[in-house]
Amino acid sequence: MTTPTPLRRLSRGGVGVVLAGGLIASFALPASAAVAAPAAAAQFILTNMMPVSNPPTPVERSAGVVAKRTIGYSVQGRRIVARLYGSATATRIGVMIGSMHGNELGGIPVAKRLEKLGAPSGSAMWVIRNLNPDGARKYQRQNAHKVDLNRNGTYLWQGTALSREYYPGPAPASEPETKAYISFLEAVKPDVVLIYHQHGNGVDSYRQKNAGLTQGLAARMKLAVKSFDCLGECRGTLAGWFNTSQAGAALTVELPAKVTTKRVKRWASAARWSIGYVPDVNR
Ligand SMILES: [Zn+2]
Repeated sequence: MTTPTPLRRLSRGGVGVVLAGGLIASFALPASAAVAAPAAAAQFILTNMMPVSNPPTPVERSAGVVAKRTIGYSVQGRRIVARLYGSATATRIGVMIGSMHGNELGGIPVAKRLEKLGAPSGSAMWVIRNLNPDGARKYQRQNAHKVDLNRNGTYLWQGTALSREYYPGPAPASEPETKAYISFLEAVKPDVVLIYHQHGNGVDSYRQKNAGLTQGLAARMKLAVKSFDCLGECRGTLAGWFNTSQAGAALTVELPAKVTTKRVKRWASAARWSIGYVPDVNR
């Protein structure tokens, strides 16, 4: 096990890599962390570092957060947080991303419900409630640079878009939110990633990596299987990048507009099922 670099010595954009019971996580720190008041800095270290150097016991449990990581910062400096549930030593890993487009927030209650339920037995589950906190604050699709984060990825990125709504940014992975998900997912190496969007009302089969996962998830969510082809070809999407460069399977889930408590429960249950369904690619 490595000893993490002291947080206060990292400058803006600095990246630390730590080992937590076999799981690796990257995180970036803002300059503000270096000038935080002592009490705040101590709390920051406590919150972020304790699970790393002292894995909590018991590690095998179905609920309760095991670790919390700031995986990056938004354009406006808001933390992007990933919370770990389940076994810190599990090789079967799921990542659930509640929201990527700031005007599609229906997956956030699903993410919070998942946090209540915890990971399925013997597995680990990271929950990122919101990948685009700046966009959510303004209830806009894009980040604070007006970049569509689901067009800013590195796979098949192109500089032109059908409309301003889908502005892909000046370069692949130009945005801090995109960099955050790339470094996090590369480090954690999940078997399955679910990314919630709205309001397409279906589970995405476009260039799917695991048809059984798509169909099983759709059936459990009581949603249709649909091919969301980005009105032509999907470029710069998170799922496109993950599915072509990583071993696991990423799936875009387009929730309906209407989100009810009953539906959130059903969708969260389906998400947990997906972690057990996919092959354990990190074994
Ligand atoms: Zn979306």
